[in-house]
Amino acid sequence: MALDETARQRILAAVDSGFEAQLAFTADMVRHDSTRGNEAAMQDFMARAFRERGFEVDHWRIEVDDIRDLPGFSPVVDVDYAQAFNVVATHRPKAEKGRSLIVNGHIDVVPPCDAARWTTPPFEPRIEGGRMYGRGAGDMKSGLAAGIFAIDAIRAAGFQPAATVHIQSVVEEECTGNGTLACLQRGYKADGALVPEPFGASIMRAEVGLMWLCLDIEGDPQHASAAFNNVGANALEKAIHIWPYIKRLEEEWNARKAGHPIYKDHPHPIRVNLGKLSGGDWVSSVPAKARMEVRLGVLEGEDLAAIRDEIRARVAEACAADPYLAAHPPKITFHGFQAEGYVLQPGSEIEAAMGRAHEEVFGEKVTATISSAVTDARFFGLYQDTPSIVYGATCGLPHGIDEYVELDSLLNVTRAYALFIADWCGLEPA
Ligand SMILES: [Zn+2]
Repeated sequence: MALDETARQRILAAVDSGFEAQLAFTADMVRHDSTRGNEAAMQDFMARAFRERGFEVDHWRIEVDDIRDLPGFSPVVDVDYAQAFNVVATHRPKAEKGRSLIVNGHIDVVPPCDAARWTTPPFEPRIEGGRMYGRGAGDMKSGLAAGIFAIDAIRAAGFQPAATVHIQSVVEEECTGNGTLACLQRGYKADGALVPEPFGASIMRAEVGLMWLCLDIEGDPQHASAAFNNVGANALEKAIHIWPYIKRLEEEWNARKAGHPIYKDHPHPIRVNLGKLSGGDWVSSVPAKARMEVRLGVLEGEDLAAIRDEIRARVAEACAADPYLAAHPPKITFHGFQAEGYVLQPGSEIEAAMGRAHEEVFGEKVTATISSAVTDARFFGLYQDTPSIVYGATCGLPHGIDEYVELDSLLNVTRAYALFIADWCGLEPA
């Protein structure tokens, strides 16, 4: 069934009339504190919402042993997966005529930074001035909800997708990607994937890779008053000594973009972030332990094993410059993200379909963006040979204080999703 003008108008009208319910649903999602280790209740909520819509529902806990040997796996150390559930809802058409689709969104969110500095509490969503505020309101509960409500709108207009659609509500996107990897392992595959991350109504052409690094430094604890005699070694000070050596990689790796076909046009794709530094247990004691955790962007196309060797060499250089560290080098652990970059090759049919939908809603050609961030889109593209597009609403202050999603952009993007799904999957009567 072709998407004629009447069908298109009915679907768009259904998106608009469902938008209030969409916002209420999004707010309910934001009310769940689904930070890492606390995701299960939120996924129960998602499974219920999918069942109410009549989808087949697959709800399972991720087992590290099932995925640890797969490409794209990120190691987890001292992390309990007791709460790490995925939910996949499946729509089956009466007759498979169109192209199948995966809509993949993560429900895990990063911690609120400093909850006291939010205008209103991070897990109490607030709508004001055309925005919804809340942790995850942008990144990316509103995106996953938009995918669901786009399909609701198609149904409300009297149709349904004429191809299989899997809606994947995953965890672990903010730390490993192992949630989406578990969906691959479970056998989910489609002709294309849409990842409704809130990077704006533009096709993401490329995303960087990403690595997490953990250094455990052992000091030599002595009374702090003895330290001026060079007795003991302060683990926190040793960490501070090492840090600039690692930070220098940012500049060096950004310089390599000159040889990259896509990233040469990005002003500063690689970011090296000192994310956590901890240690010490008493102000008047020399810290016996310090832990430094770093997020390192990696240029697309880089070999991660070679990158890890570079990091180890850099830490060794820092240690060689310090007699204590030379004798007591830190323990280096790579856990969390070990993500390769991904490029959506231009010219795919799925990009063309999203481009048509975008143009119908926005009245202009869709642009492409090059990102210094990472999404789960890489899994489909790199490990399933499935083109996956990232296209979404506009989020302000993701991972920051007073994160929000722009509601105008959310409505327009939901319209575009509905037209895109109708085009990509085709339609049949509901
Ligand atoms: Zn996200």
